[in-house]
Amino acid sequence: MQITVVDAPEHQEVVRIVDQASGLVGYIAIHSTLRGPAAGGVRMRPYANETDALTDALRLSRGMTYKNAAADLALGGGKAVIIGNPATDKTPELLEAFGMAVEALEGRYWTAEDMGMTPADMARIGTRTAYVAGLAVGEFASGDPSPITAKGIFNAIRTASKHRLGSAELSGRTVAVQGLGHVGHYLCGYLHRAGARLIVTDIDEAQVARVAAEFGAATVAPDTIYGVQADIFAPCAIGAILNSETIPQLKVAVVAGGANNQLATPEDGKRLHARGILYAPDYVANGGGIINVATEILRISGREVWVEEKLKALDRTMDRILTRARTLSVSPAEVADAIVDEILHSKAA
Ligand code: NAD
Repeated sequence: MQITVVDAPEHQEVVRIVDQASGLVGYIAIHSTLRGPAAGGVRMRPYANETDALTDALRLSRGMTYKNAAADLALGGGKAVIIGNPATDKTPELLEAFGMAVEALEGRYWTAEDMGMTPADMARIGTRTAYVAGLAVGEFASGDPSPITAKGIFNAIRTASKHRLGSAELSGRTVAVQGLGHVGHYLCGYLHRAGARLIVTDIDEAQVARVAAEFGAATVAPDTIYGVQADIFAPCAIGAILNSETIPQLKVAVVAGGANNQLATPEDGKRLHARGILYAPDYVANGGGIINVATEILRISGREVWVEEKLKALDRTMDRILTRARTLSVSPAEVADAIVDEILHSKAA
């Protein structure tokens, strides 16, 4: 196993990890441990080259610092990437080698599941390191984060509605939901119980049929979700779906959902603002997921009460962001990082 330090001026510590025997090639990027151990998932993708992989690790680890601070967790930000096709290149030996690399960082970085990884992979990585979360079994195992993620998004939808529509009450409001997987399905449940009307889509017809049957949702084809008449649009599928093509189509007052990296470019935050659409910054709206994972890393007892408190704090942060955005008349995407910077520096652990 070769672990070599990579020069990255804006990051605390970045290492390139190579294990020739298993074919492991990747990076672990620790952006900050100012508030606690750096936490963030490991992503496996067939990156075109090492530069792309490193760029992704640097960008995503910085994002984790902000997501963890927004959720008021005693965790810093980190991320790992492994170059390869998860369907064909992922072997037990490769996962174990990755676990050894994580262990070598002595707890400065905690890993968890991200794209291309499964809970079973986390268990395999956990045979070589103690610094792994997202396990299915164990005293502090946190399991599937999506119900908590969905609860946080539901709160964000209510808070954004209060700001833009004058009331957090969702009864009678129409919400368009894109993506009905783990998060989207739980979110539809919350919205349905709150009396909202649902218009939903997914590229997987079985998911669409399930939500239509369970919650009486109206359904549309994937490409037409952007143009539906609704109060709120909740993206819960993939990133970069708020862009120069989709934003002009939107007929909603609020965008608040769980997908990561919803804005294709920073310019798209401004585009939404110019159209009078209130955008709830994604990494705050979907912070429930990392709150759930944090219970495992921080070994929280009485986790239900703790999670509920953290979700409330997350919602207060969203409220602060939306309030300042309104005062300054700018996009919430522009003020989110500034507000989280204040949290980061005022309460460094
Ligand atoms: P998932 O894979 O369970 O569900 C995603 C759903 O989106 C699938 O049903 C898929 O068919 C659908 N989909 C994909 N492309 C689509 C398209 N173009 N149009 C419509 N539907 C499409 O994933 P998930 O765990 O529900 O996560 C959803 C999003 O939320 C992702 O962006 C994820 O990164 C983010 N997120 C998830 C969590 C969590 O707790 N699971 C936490 C934070 C952020």
